[in-house]
Amino acid sequence: MDPRAIGAELERIERLGLTRRRRTVEAFTDPERPTRVRVAGRTLVNFSGNDYLGLAHHPALIAAMTQAAARWGAGSGAAHLVSGHGEEHARLEKELAGFVGRPRALLFSTGYMANLAVLSVLAGRGDLVLLDRLSHASLIDAALLARARVQRYRHADAASAERLVTRPAGKSGATVIATDGLFSMDGDEAPLASLAALAQARSAWLVVDDAHGLGVLGPTGRGTLEAQGLGMAEVPVLMGTLGKAFGSFGAFVAGSAELIELLIQRARTYIYTTALPQPVAAATRAALVIAQRESWRRARVLELTQRFRRGAAALGIALTGSMTPIQPVVIGESRAALEVSRELSEAGFWVAAIRPPTVPRGSARLRITFSAAHTEPEVDALLEALARALTRGSA
Ligand code: PMP
Repeated sequence: MDPRAIGAELERIERLGLTRRRRTVEAFTDPERPTRVRVAGRTLVNFSGNDYLGLAHHPALIAAMTQAAARWGAGSGAAHLVSGHGEEHARLEKELAGFVGRPRALLFSTGYMANLAVLSVLAGRGDLVLLDRLSHASLIDAALLARARVQRYRHADAASAERLVTRPAGKSGATVIATDGLFSMDGDEAPLASLAALAQARSAWLVVDDAHGLGVLGPTGRGTLEAQGLGMAEVPVLMGTLGKAFGSFGAFVAGSAELIELLIQRARTYIYTTALPQPVAAATRAALVIAQRESWRRARVLELTQRFRRGAAALGIALTGSMTPIQPVVIGESRAALEVSRELSEAGFWVAAIRPPTVPRGSARLRITFSAAHTEPEVDALLEALARALTRGSA
C-alpha cells in the first residue's frame, strides 16, 4: 500500500462501521468467576469468549503451567526439529492422539498455522481445494498459500460441493475438501457424513477443523466427529485447537502415522517456527484430564445454552437453529450491530459485534457464547438486556 493512502483507507473502514477496536481486559474481578472482567474501569460479564468449559483459569492448569515453567523454562528456545521439542510436547501429542483415537498427533503453535500446514502439504498448484463458503479465514488463507484452485461451495451443502468437483476420480491431481466441524460464527455443524461420502467417491481428502467442537460436542466431548458418529475412516485429517474448550493455547493435527510424518517433513509452519512453550503444553495436558473427568462442564455449558434459547423464545428474540454454545443474533447492518453491542456493554455484558469480512455482508451479528463458568442469573440478565437493546434498536 502507498504510505500516503493509509489515512484514506482507515477513514473508509471507519465510514463503513468496520473499524475493529481492542478492549483491554484490566482484571479478572472474581477468581471463582473468570467470566467477570474489568474493562475501562467497569465489570462486565464476558459472553464473547471461547473458554467453553471454563478451564482457562482452572487451578490445575495454572499449577501445571507454573511447575512446568520452573522445570523447563518459559520458552522452548528453538523449533521442534532443531532443539525445541520437549518431554511435555511429546507427552501431549500422545495424549491428544489417544483422546481423538488416532495413531498420531502433531502440535502446532496455533490453529491458523495448523490449517496452513495441512492444506499446503496436501494440495499444491493445479490441485483443487473445496471450501465451505463460511469456512474460517485460516482455511481460506491456507488454500491460497497452497496455490491450489479454490472453489467455495454453499454453506453446509455437500451437494453443492459435489457439483464443484470437476475432476473425475482416479485422474492425477489431488482434491481436498476442508470444512469447519462446528462453524465459529454460526454455531451449526458441517454435514460431515455427506462430505465424507463425496470425498470417498472422488478419492479426495477430507479435512475437518474442529476448533469449536472439540471438548464440547459428542457424548464424551470428542467433538463434531463424535457427535455425528464418524472416525478416521471417514475423516482422515482432523485439526483441533487448544485455546478454546481446553483453555490454553496451541493446536494439533491428528491422523495416520504417515500423514503426521509427512507434515513433520514438509509443513513450513511446523518446521520454520519456534516450538510452543512447554508450560503451555503442560497446561493443555492438565486440561485434557479435567475435560474428560469433569463431564459436568460439557453438560453445564449445553444446559446454559438451552436456558438461553428457551428464554429468547419466550421474549421473542430471534435466534438461528444453532444448538451449540455459539448463539448468533443476526442484526444485519454493521452499525446497528455495534449499537446493540454498546447497549449491552452499558448493561454490564460483553457481547462482541461480528462484522464483515468475518461474516458475509449484511449479516453483522452479535456472537454470544456460553461457558461452563457462566451462571443462570447471568444468562437471564443477559436475555433481559438483549430484549431491551433489540427493541430499542428496532424502535
Ligand atoms: N479455525 C477456526 C474454526 C477458528 O475459529 C480458529 C480461531 N478463531 C482457528 C482455526 C485458529 O485457531 P488459533 O486461534 O489457534 O490460531
